[in-house]
Amino acid sequence: MNQPNSVGLRRKPIFALAVVSAMFLSACGTNPHQSPGKMRPIGTSLNAWDEDIARKAELESLGACRLGRDVVAWFPCTDSSGAPALSEAEMSAIVAKLERGIRAAKVFIGDADWSYRDDRRVFLYFPDANFISHAPGGNTAFIPLWRVRQDQAPWLHEAMHLLVKVDGDWLSQADSVAEARMPLWLHEGLAEALAMAVAQQEGLAHYSPLIDVPADRLDAFAAEQIRACPDPSRLLAVVGGRGKLPELFGEERMNYAPAFYAASTSFVRWLARRDGGYRPLLRAIADFDNEITSYERLSGRSLDESRREWMASIGVEGATSSVAPSR
Ligand SMILES: [Zn+2]
Repeated sequence: MNQPNSVGLRRKPIFALAVVSAMFLSACGTNPHQSPGKMRPIGTSLNAWDEDIARKAELESLGACRLGRDVVAWFPCTDSSGAPALSEAEMSAIVAKLERGIRAAKVFIGDADWSYRDDRRVFLYFPDANFISHAPGGNTAFIPLWRVRQDQAPWLHEAMHLLVKVDGDWLSQADSVAEARMPLWLHEGLAEALAMAVAQQEGLAHYSPLIDVPADRLDAFAAEQIRACPDPSRLLAVVGGRGKLPELFGEERMNYAPAFYAASTSFVRWLARRDGGYRPLLRAIADFDNEITSYERLSGRSLDESRREWMASIGVEGATSSVAPSR
């Protein structure tokens, strides 16, 4: 999930308490004879919410850190009831799964040696709290503990937001700029379509909180959700165009978000199949603030026309008579 810019882009210094206590290793921490910096590396979170900063600091001071070659996972030692959050075996199994998926994801997008500031690892934090999973930038994503415990975590989707290169940062833009210009459909659709493809290739379970259907049901689900949403024309105007629907981030979120995510993913997947792969989409998304024109140049196809063909392919033609996406 990419979050609305209006939520939590304020940055605060990490709490002093956490900085002090970070020197101590907790009971479920790592080998005290090893250097804490090496055994408990911390991720960089560029556009963290205030809550992220507090949760990250708490995990880094009191949590359990488990390392892979391509992933660092931070878990709480105990859950809110005081019981151990995860057993050692559970943490190991989760890290092995994350490692496999993230390594495959890097290869899939043609960037096997992906790194952020010379660190090839994606940092996943699993706080014991309820919030929307998100990847605020840098090399760090946040996912609720209960989701990973229940194997209902969109970790591959969030990792994709971090792995896909963008020569700019939409999340750091002013709200009004991102709301008008960010091609949110491309960011969300590409993260989800890539996550689905990698999960399928690796035989990993794929889970999306908003698109809880198997990959082969995605197009039918998208069509159902588009028809069911309050204003299909308005929704489809931002799938293939610029801008974010404000409804996605307010009280109407659940009326629009499943349709938006499913439609964006279905459309991206359709484009990739037509183009013979994800390369044009991956190159276009990197071309910050020129994504639409860049994709049309690289693919040699208009996105307006492409959207009409995709809509016909999933059986929702006629829903967008008033579509006029901005460039
Ligand atoms: Zn996302």
